[in-house]
Amino acid sequence: MIPNTIVIDMTNTELLYLKDSYMKEFDAEVVRSGPRYVILDKTAFYPEGGGQPSDTGILLHKDEDYKVIKVMQRGDQIFHYLNEDIPEGTIVHGKIKWDKRFTYMRLHSGEHLLTGLFEEEGAGPKVFSSFSQLDFKPSNIGDSTIKSVEKKFNKIIDENLPVEIFYQNRNALDVEDDERKQEFLEKIPESVKELRMVKVGSHALTFCMGTHVKSTGDIGKLEELRVETKKKKRKIVYFRLQGIKDSPA
Ligand SMILES: [Zn+2]
Repeated sequence: MIPNTIVIDMTNTELLYLKDSYMKEFDAEVVRSGPRYVILDKTAFYPEGGGQPSDTGILLHKDEDYKVIKVMQRGDQIFHYLNEDIPEGTIVHGKIKWDKRFTYMRLHSGEHLLTGLFEEEGAGPKVFSSFSQLDFKPSNIGDSTIKSVEKKFNKIIDENLPVEIFYQNRNALDVEDDERKQEFLEKIPESVKELRMVKVGSHALTFCMGTHVKSTGDIGKLEELRVETKKKKRKIVYFRLQGIKDSPA
């Protein structure tokens, strides 16, 4: 998912999670509604995108709970799919299912950091990544690289370094030696000039519209890091974080 979380902020909805990924509750107005969906003037619900599943939770109105089953960006709108209808003009109080979101924030931020650390080790181009694995090809990652990355990763968790978010002009971005980033960049419409950058300590810098923890201590240490060799010099690195059982793929 780095940086394939291309949920571009071109919506008419104010995306609260971009400014504060720790926001668990918020108030909003229903600006459009249809059969079992609403569009809000602002939202802290993360829509499905780039491999990261959508948030779930509830919208509250006058002591009534409406389940938010799925949130998706369609065109320039963010659709909240519900178990019941809510009329336009209603003021609702949104609550995100936080445990699930925070797990994904930890895994996704961990994925950023691991990507940066493997880059520093000259692991070769990353061709795929998810919440549990990173694929490099061609690559010569061996046990010594794994040990080195694991040690650095856990040290950075102990140091509790900040995860910084800032905006940068796309023309100032150097992606010449990274084909994957070039492809992602090409998918972002030309009208989007400023890219949202994410920097984990001083170790991983990329553009991303996803949700991240505020500092490395919140990621947690590695429970497991191992590598498997596949055909044609493809190396698959599997990772698990402490306290997260059965990492979602
Ligand atoms: Zn990200």
